[in-house]
Amino acid sequence: DAKVLTLDGPGGAGKGTISRLVAERLGWHLLDSGALYRLTALAALRHGVALDDELSLERLAVELDVAFLAEEDRTRVMLEGSEVGNDIRTEQVGDAASRVAALNGVRQALLQRQRDFKKPPGLVADGRDMGTVVFPDAELKVFLTASAEERARRRRLQLQEAGVDASLSSLLKEIQARDARDMQRSVAPLKPADDAITLDTTSLKIPEVVERLTEWLAE
Ligand code: C5P
Repeated sequence: DAKVLTLDGPGGAGKGTISRLVAERLGWHLLDSGALYRLTALAALRHGVALDDELSLERLAVELDVAFLAEEDRTRVMLEGSEVGNDIRTEQVGDAASRVAALNGVRQALLQRQRDFKKPPGLVADGRDMGTVVFPDAELKVFLTASAEERARRRRLQLQEAGVDASLSSLLKEIQARDARDMQRSVAPLKPADDAITLDTTSLKIPEVVERLTEWLAE
């Protein structure tokens, strides 16, 4: 049987990196659920589907032709047969993703696809509603947070590594807008599951968080 660790929280709290490291350490599978919303958004942008056309977006999500090819040190994300690379990591796609993610039809369409990632020996599921909706019976649920300022700072560093320069104040505004949209939407709003442990990573280093999560899992 497969175990599940859910890692939910706002954007920039470190879920992506932490999930990958914990999955590597345990030899578990990894679900980057945000990538599915980003891929749906990218497909919509590429096919000229309006971001408020719920029926067409739902159909797009049902038919979404994606694959996650795990390689040694990275995962190749494929959309309709070709690698998307950083195309799903842009601000435009992130913003579009949070809009399509507010649509119930889209969330329903992606639900089973996400559950299919659960395979032995286990799954680390990274997202917003992993513990509340997708894997309500998970062995361990963690809600990762960090202050908006710290998340903006981390995002800036990430962008710099990709050769992109962005101001801290504009990133902070984007993060706050994204938080508001994720928390205030009527379907699967971002919030900790009742049985989740909240971990504030503002002043924690990545290895410390990984250590703590693996300890909790072993308990
Ligand atoms: O985590 P990431 O930034 O890749 O997610 C992009 C967007 O997808 C988020 O802003 C959120 O609106 C949405 N999302 C979601 N539920 C998830 C994962 C992501 O609504 N489980």
